Amino acid sequence: MQTIFDSHAHYDDEAFDNDRDELLIHLNESGVCGIVNNATDIKTSRFNVEFVKKYPFIYGTAGIHPECASNIHEEDYKELREILKEEKIVAVGEIGLDYYWKDVPKEEQLIVFERQLQLALEVDMPVIIHDREAHGDTFLLLSKYKPKGFLHSFSGSVEMMREAVKLGLSISLGGVVTFKNARHSVDVAREVPIDRLLLETDAPYLSPVPFRGKRCDSSMIRYTAEKIAEIRQTSTDEIIRQTRENAKKMFGI
Ligand SMILES: [Zn+2]
Repeated sequence: MQTIFDSHAHYDDEAFDNDRDELLIHLNESGVCGIVNNATDIKTSRFNVEFVKKYPFIYGTAGIHPECASNIHEEDYKELREILKEEKIVAVGEIGLDYYWKDVPKEEQLIVFERQLQLALEVDMPVIIHDREAHGDTFLLLSKYKPKGFLHSFSGSVEMMREAVKLGLSISLGGVVTFKNARHSVDVAREVPIDRLLLETDAPYLSPVPFRGKRCDSSMIRYTAEKIAEIRQTSTDEIIRQTRENAKKMFGI
């Protein structure tokens, strides 16, 4: 069996509080060779520093999610810069814009996103982008800074995917591609250049069919890979192999 790399998950989430260790050890034994655990704020960025030391196959990020972008101060960016120097911290993420949830004003989100794009260039690391209903502003800033990295749980059109690829970015697809109403995702899965495709779960969210609605974990990524293989008329093993190689290259591991 080919081993799977999950480029985007949240194992710090309380959904895993009761069985985190047991689950992760089992995942590794059953063929998950790598997971990038994504921070959403300073607290989870700190969590990742210790978390990655516990498991050889787990890597982490440091960054502030748009939903957590209120009251961010100079010291926070300073701390992020320090955390990014730690071993096995491999990307700035997840960062971006979310105009669906209106808790944090756009102006604040834009400042925090832009500062972290600058930080990623400064430390020469990839970014993991969250873009929900904010394609215009997201692409404006990505075109301005041209960071390396990828758009996670990509929900845009094929045209938008092409624009991202032109900027040098990759696309990560998750469980949504298995959903019945996922027209955009299916088209993107078919058209994206294979060397720009990553797989993710976004665990504990967005479980693929047949687990939709249940807690998601990295073992379920196989169903996403199967669906993409079917769409691209290739083998599941080939999708798993290629996305694993893409992820290792992206994260420098
Ligand atoms: Zn996420």
